[in-house]
Parts: sequence; structure tokens; C-alpha cells
Amino acid sequence: MSYPVSYYCPHCGALVEIEREGYLADKSVTPYPLVGWEYAAPDEEFEEADGVHFVCGESDAPDLTWTGERSEADDVENPHGESPCGRDFYLSFVRYEDGEAVESVPESEYVDIGL
Ligand SMILES: [Zn+2]
Repeated sequence: MSYPVSYYCPHCGALVEIEREGYLADKSVTPYPLVGWEYAAPDEEFEEADGVHFVCGESDAPDLTWTGERSEADDVENPHGESPCGRDFYLSFVRYEDGEAVESVPESEYVDIGL
């Protein structure tokens, strides 16, 4: 059975609801993809992927609803900017390798190399 779960855009706080099967554990919602994770669009079979790639405010997928509300969480980057903002963000599921949850590597440790 699926049920709606809500997340918010880390850029502007726009709230989105998506129909989820119950068995995948969420790891995080981030403004960038985690290294090693593979993402699917909300209208693809994302339960088969490692996470979901959202574009803020786009709602072509039948199971996706932008509620028109905004989160007031402290970690929203731009709580008073335009919303929805049209930027990318990523829901990552917990991944397992050899029975152990895989830790993500912070992107900053990658992107600073060679700059
Ligand atoms: Zn947004």
C-alpha cells in the first residue's frame, strides 16, 4: 500500500507530497545528489532507484503534488525568495551494501579538488 509522504525543497521550502510504498527508508533531502546514488524522476519507477530527483514546482508525475505551502524549517536556504523556485533537489533512500548502510561522502570533499 502506498501513502503520501511530504518533503520540502531545501532551496525555498516548497512542500511536496509524493505517494510512497512503505518499505524504503529515507536518508536525507539535499540540494545536490549524493555521490554513488542513482536518482529517478518522480514519474519513473523511483522505488527501484536510490532516490528521487525533484525539480521544484514541476508536477507532471501523477503521484506528486506541490501543496502550495512552504516549510518554515530553519535549514531552508532562501525562505523569502520565490517559491516554487524551479531548482533541483534530491531525496535519497538509505542504501545497503553487504548488509551495511552506506554513508554518503560530503560533496565538498569532491568538488574542491583541483579548483
Ligand atoms: Zn524550491
